[in-house]
Amino acid sequence: MTVGEAIRAAAEALAVEWGRLDAEVLMAHALGVSRSDMLLRHMRDPVPDGFASLLERRLAHEPVAYILGHQEFYGRDFIVTPDVLIPRGDSETLIGAALELAPDATRVLDPGTGSGALLLTYLAETGASGIGIDASAAALSVAQANAEKLGLGDKAQFHEAEWSREGWADDLGKFDLILCNPPYVEDAAPLDRSVRDYEPASALFAGPEGLADYRVLMPQIAKLLAENGTAIFEIGSKQVDPVTRLAENCGYRVRLHRDLAGRPRALSLKLQR
Ligand code: GLN
Repeated sequence: MTVGEAIRAAAEALAVEWGRLDAEVLMAHALGVSRSDMLLRHMRDPVPDGFASLLERRLAHEPVAYILGHQEFYGRDFIVTPDVLIPRGDSETLIGAALELAPDATRVLDPGTGSGALLLTYLAETGASGIGIDASAAALSVAQANAEKLGLGDKAQFHEAEWSREGWADDLGKFDLILCNPPYVEDAAPLDRSVRDYEPASALFAGPEGLADYRVLMPQIAKLLAENGTAIFEIGSKQVDPVTRLAENCGYRVRLHRDLAGRPRALSLKLQR
């Protein structure tokens, strides 16, 4: 079989919306060439040995990003493993909001940093420095690897901490920007198998309404914000009202930000003093 024939067969077998693209990306990975190179020069080559096992993993619903070990976010390439949530295009909304509302922040905090995508993107865009927090040591080593890969090893620090534990933030000081994509999925939400079976549950689920982590974090964040600081939280598209109410009860002024599809995706908060 040729590369071209195998891609066509794989796309059919995958029978998902992006099946053709997934098949091409996996094939290019097996060939060790870029996708555009493959499409231009390698479609009549014999299928490389590695392709079958990559396809098998995708057929078992494993996300392409975990199979390849990396994912693009805001124009940069991030290492990902199953220890971290795969950075999503939706979350780029938070970067856009941060660059608009707090372009000159010098000290940034990213609670629940995972791969480090939010923190490291802001640092790379601006030259600020910051701290990423996560409850998972495995996630933090992915974030650290990403910091080094992006040449941000001296700008980013990572600390292991659980925000459900009293006092986790006591010695961190103040921040002029806090970027946070906490878990916010309802425990019983019908998720795609590629998400539910593969991505870390601790990064996704937040109780019956998906609000548990906002409830814990909102009051704590208020103590960590510098005068005139901005906090930006990712939210689920149906969580505008409850999360806005939580934030207002903690004394924040709240503004809504939409993703490229026009869905509510982030709330930016400033303390009214
Ligand atoms: N947007 C993610 C999803 O639904 C959820 C991310 C999160 O809980 N922080 O796949």
